[in-house]
Amino acid sequence: MEKMMRAMVLDRCAPLSENPTPLRPAELPVPIPRGDEILIEVKACGVCRTDLDEIEGRTAPAFFPIVLGHQAVGVVRGRGDQARRFAEGARVGAGWIHSSCGECEYCLNDRENLCSRFEATGRDAPGGYAEYMVIRENFAAPLPESLSDAAAAPLLCAGAVGYRALRLSGLTDGGALGFSGFGASGHLVLQAARVLYPRSGLYVFARSPEQRRFALSLGADWAGGFDDAPPRPLDAIIDTTPVWKPLVRLAPRLKPGGRFVINAIRKETVDNEILATIEYEKHLWLEKEIKSVANVTRRDIEEFLELAGRAALAPAVAVYPLAEANRALNELKSGDQRGAKVLVM
Ligand SMILES: [Zn+2]
Ligand SMILES: [Zn+2]
Repeated sequence: MEKMMRAMVLDRCAPLSENPTPLRPAELPVPIPRGDEILIEVKACGVCRTDLDEIEGRTAPAFFPIVLGHQAVGVVRGRGDQARRFAEGARVGAGWIHSSCGECEYCLNDRENLCSRFEATGRDAPGGYAEYMVIRENFAAPLPESLSDAAAAPLLCAGAVGYRALRLSGLTDGGALGFSGFGASGHLVLQAARVLYPRSGLYVFARSPEQRRFALSLGADWAGGFDDAPPRPLDAIIDTTPVWKPLVRLAPRLKPGGRFVINAIRKETVDNEILATIEYEKHLWLEKEIKSVANVTRRDIEEFLELAGRAALAPAVAVYPLAEANRALNELKSGDQRGAKVLVM
């Protein structure tokens, strides 16, 4: 008889406001690892804003029903006949990159995140909101011993994509870095920036006083609202908010040549009209740049995990049982939660 597992599945896209319980508990067959795949017994899986983008259709899944989840931590319980990299029992993580073609100009030049055949875990293939999942062994990452399952999960996307945003910001040590929004990604990237750029000033823009206090407690030099003036102009700003107001308010805070890095797979459309207030002189003149962050490479994940282990990064996590995935998603959508949400199996 087929071995079965518990999972939470998505049947269709709809706004959370119309369907506040988008995920349905299901019993599915445990997947069988083939070729170079490994079978992972999932212990914890992070909940990400991109899951909301999938649920609400801004980046729709490739098929339905689908198991979401792209920050999965677990233990290797099976291997395909060509899988050699991990022993059974090894602890591994699976992030947003599920596979890429391996042969295009992007894959061959350390930009596999831009591959036209990029496939995402939990969008183009079943993910970690389940007791088991499979992934090709070279797309799984070994995990540092020092991190618990729940603490490691948010490093795989919030942390790794945030780390990519930090790389793309072009910051050098001593430069001034702003954070637009301060949630699961921001609180990890701020800690990473403290380690990588010890002489830099770190300035956090966040809506809620609680988020600002949290930022200051983690080593931010300043925290304020989106209309407040930071103590100095900024070399770069990393934006993790789902809306446009931060770009319009904060681009004028950039130095000449400064860069505004948007770390979001999609923006919501609720405040689109504010974009019409962008003024070339104020927001873009003097070689200011706006850049997006797309996906993540295996290098981003592995480098960030290594840094997290070395620097003993401490992700703040809020843990939910798998069956309460809908509650975690609704609390993420309503905002103002500090740290990262993680489902445990
Ligand atoms: Zn994510
Ligand atoms: Zn490719």
